[in-house]
Amino acid sequence: MIKPLNRLIDAFKKLPGIGQKQAERFAYYILKNPQSYADNLADTMLEAKKHIKTCSVCCSLCEKSPCEICSDILGTRDKEKICVVENYTDLQTIEKTGKYKGLYHVLLGVLSPLEGIHQDDLSIKLLMKRLNGVSEILVATNPSVEGDATAIFLSQLLKPYNIKITRLAKGIPSGGTIEYADEVTLINALDGRKEI
Ligand SMILES: [Zn+2]
Repeated sequence: MIKPLNRLIDAFKKLPGIGQKQAERFAYYILKNPQSYADNLADTMLEAKKHIKTCSVCCSLCEKSPCEICSDILGTRDKEKICVVENYTDLQTIEKTGKYKGLYHVLLGVLSPLEGIHQDDLSIKLLMKRLNGVSEILVATNPSVEGDATAIFLSQLLKPYNIKITRLAKGIPSGGTIEYADEVTLINALDGRKEI
């Protein structure tokens, strides 16, 4: 087989959820399009990688660290609340409801011993540094086995700090994800959050 083609397919296969067939489809698609398509794609990736940073406070993505929410230039955020989410997409989804006005903390994943993801692989240490003046931590991990286990782990860890720990109310179906929840369901889940 042609070497550069192999390398391209292998590169796509490293993306999450992409298998051999899908990787081949991507590679052929790029090859059949004009040179400018590949140039644009490569430039866009390099640009994003160069200019998008991880917020030093909450681990969200941003152009300038600390991110806009952590900086809170307008002074509209409730700094006593931190909503803990698995990833940036979930932060965006909750933010879009306009219902939540506190701060966030992006865990960068969930605990998953089977996949070798442990406490130190997540941004838990950074979260522990932010507890001063916080009265509520809303754990908004997904209602999956790992998401639930992570929520329980966090509630145990935070117990000595006299902070109210809440969890999004059920409503997002078990095994479902925040990313794909409709807005009404998500607002209800935020409103009905329960102490854990
Ligand atoms: Zn931030």
